Amino acid sequence: MQSDYYQYFDLITAGGAQPESSILLIYTGGTIGMDTDENGVLVPLDFERIMDKLPELRRFRYRLRLIAPFVPLDSSDMGTAEWLLLAEVIRAHYAEFDAFVILHGTDTMAFTASALSFLLENLKKPVILTGSQIPIGASRTDARENFISALEVAASRTNGQATVPEVCICFSNVLLRGNRSSKVATSNFTAFASENYPSLAQIGIQLDFNKSHIIKPNSLPFLVHTRMDNRVTILKMFPSMMPDLVKARLSNPALRGVVLESYGSGNFPTSPWLVAAMQEATERGVLLLNISQCSGGAISQGRYATSSQLNRIGVVSGRDLTTEAAITKMMFVLGQSENSHQNRQLLEQVLCGEMSEN
Ligand code: ASP
Repeated sequence: MQSDYYQYFDLITAGGAQPESSILLIYTGGTIGMDTDENGVLVPLDFERIMDKLPELRRFRYRLRLIAPFVPLDSSDMGTAEWLLLAEVIRAHYAEFDAFVILHGTDTMAFTASALSFLLENLKKPVILTGSQIPIGASRTDARENFISALEVAASRTNGQATVPEVCICFSNVLLRGNRSSKVATSNFTAFASENYPSLAQIGIQLDFNKSHIIKPNSLPFLVHTRMDNRVTILKMFPSMMPDLVKARLSNPALRGVVLESYGSGNFPTSPWLVAAMQEATERGVLLLNISQCSGGAISQGRYATSSQLNRIGVVSGRDLTTEAAITKMMFVLGQSENSHQNRQLLEQVLCGEMSEN
């Protein structure tokens, strides 16, 4: 890990020498880390001063260490390099901490959560992402509640084991599986939803965990993957697509994977030029993954005549994947090998609860 990129702070809490839990806080940037300066302009908060903004942290009986970058990022600037770095930070501190809380901008939080769920294989500890719609320095901020809930979820144990050994998003009184989440609102406090999978906890007066829907950890060793491939694109169907523009994207020689956002339950226009362009791409070894533009429900490839041709040309059904999980799964899978047959098989499998079984 690059120490010239990060600064470390140990926060003094009531945990003392025998803390109930040890949690690594990883600050990446986003609205949660903002404060207003004397001119009312939003500026990144000096995270050394976090105790002044959240004095209640001192009362927790947790050991808290904060890692903050010298240059916080708006989450629009997060990508594969930052996801791999986050995975590496977790790997480097995995033995030392019971849980990880990542403070992140809301805009691409669901992409980061999805990417981490693939990169952190056989995870046994909670990795909880949170952020806020209003800066931590503002009086009506939702940061305080989100941050504290994320800490309590991360610290929760059942029969001596982490209650939620998954990558999750904790936001506005609800805990969601990270790779099932999407940002759905720009101005409501309830910014995230998981249309195709139940929430993992309701955060009210108590933490009410939905235990039957939380992943049970396996006994295989924790493994951090170190490669993703961004030679991918998303192609969303819309009426009257211009053949030349679509063909130019599908025939690009650098391309290795495409997430196709189809209509409804997986339907495509039947135009022969589109079918031919998709077929030509699969013959070159490009992986095509079909998901729905609808946020709720799964695709059913082959149900209508308009999607039956897809099975024939080798388009993989993404069932009920979110766009965020589909594109990050594609980047992850393509990073694993150059063998498109093997990659296709990996794409079809449920890797970490990201889609429903057939
Ligand atoms: N643009 C910000 C970000 O995603 C918005 C936020 O944090 O809510 O970093």
